[in-house]
Amino acid sequence: MPIALVDSNNFYAACEQSIDPSIANRPLVILSNNDGCVIARSAEARAMGVSMGQPYFKIRHQLERIGAEIRSSNYTLYADMSQRLMSIIEANCEEIEAYSIDEAFVKISRPSNDILMTWARRLREITYQRLSLPIAIGIGESKSQAKLANHLAKTITSCSGIFDLGIENDQDYFLKQVEVRNVWGVGPKFAHWCHIHGIHNALQLRDMPSNKLKKKFGVKGIRLQDELKGHRCINFLSQAIPKKEACVSNSLSRPIDSIGELREIIATHTIRASEKLREHNQNATSITIFVRTSFYTPNFYSQSATQRLELPSNDTRVLLRAALSLTTKVFHPNYLLIKAGVIMQKLLSADYLQLNLLSTNELKGSKDESLIKAIDNLNKRYGRDTVYWAACGINRKWKIRRSYLSALATTRLSDIPIVRA
Ligand SMILES: [Mg+2]
Repeated sequence: MPIALVDSNNFYAACEQSIDPSIANRPLVILSNNDGCVIARSAEARAMGVSMGQPYFKIRHQLERIGAEIRSSNYTLYADMSQRLMSIIEANCEEIEAYSIDEAFVKISRPSNDILMTWARRLREITYQRLSLPIAIGIGESKSQAKLANHLAKTITSCSGIFDLGIENDQDYFLKQVEVRNVWGVGPKFAHWCHIHGIHNALQLRDMPSNKLKKKFGVKGIRLQDELKGHRCINFLSQAIPKKEACVSNSLSRPIDSIGELREIIATHTIRASEKLREHNQNATSITIFVRTSFYTPNFYSQSATQRLELPSNDTRVLLRAALSLTTKVFHPNYLLIKAGVIMQKLLSADYLQLNLLSTNELKGSKDESLIKAIDNLNKRYGRDTVYWAACGINRKWKIRRSYLSALATTRLSDIPIVRA
């Protein structure tokens, strides 16, 4: 059964354009947290020469000149759109492996005439109709071939977003079109080594002497070559591997030097992390908090502290108590902190919670569980922080800058656009 890679084009920009048609087909730039750097662009912005990773303040004038729209990153929107995208893909294939926020490997059988065009066109139509997201579909016999075909689907304009390497008579011709650095799994170092050895495209990589590749990159090199030939070496993981850790951290909008503010930040992160645990039905066994100064200050300072929990838990109150008790261990009044975070560790499924016989703070099925659930539901329905914990503070001047944030049009009732007809 062939493997297809389904991938949304310019995902963040497409999500923004999907909820605000007035910026469709326009140059659009998405900024990182604190509105720092360019992390995504629409095709139009790319064509006008806006490059990735540029600090916003440096290219502000260029963006004004080309009339670009600016948005702060809206991860709530992207995560929600991703889920919608994945469920559409899942309903239209036999098996799915969600590979990243905007791409999935899928298994799909060929019909009797071998042509998957009708399937692929339909999937593109549905995602565009329901989510306004343009997608590209690449089909091959292995994951690496599917990735390669997806790259071709995006670069060859005449194939309108769909490319099936499996039915091409002259695969070599197409492999030759793909530069070696665009092959899945080839990093900058690997690509550099290839160029030195006269290997410039995917075809040359596939056909080069295996022993040379093995000597340099070991089994990984051979596996890549086999994958390019269409032999399946990289497993299909239809079930997401449960996470072992959950981390929530951020860069602060300005440096802080008070323990009061640090406690607010740690509390805010802990609450978010405990929400994540509950979303994935997991409990943490221990909790670590960390802080650091900027890398560019002469006296760099970084510190972390860990506490093991008496019982694995995802109860916000238990986790808050543990995290806040650690703040005095990492705080130092002589340093200006620029980053702080919380890591929930040794995560276990909440289904297999081994209860301590002597413990009384059993959460499952209790009133406490209903309380936490009610808070989660209120925040989900009416937006984050509708109900929040006093430990997070009220002013929160350290919160990240998001001056150009779009609406939470798909996840918050009050932000749903109104259509007048
Ligand atoms: Mg993409």
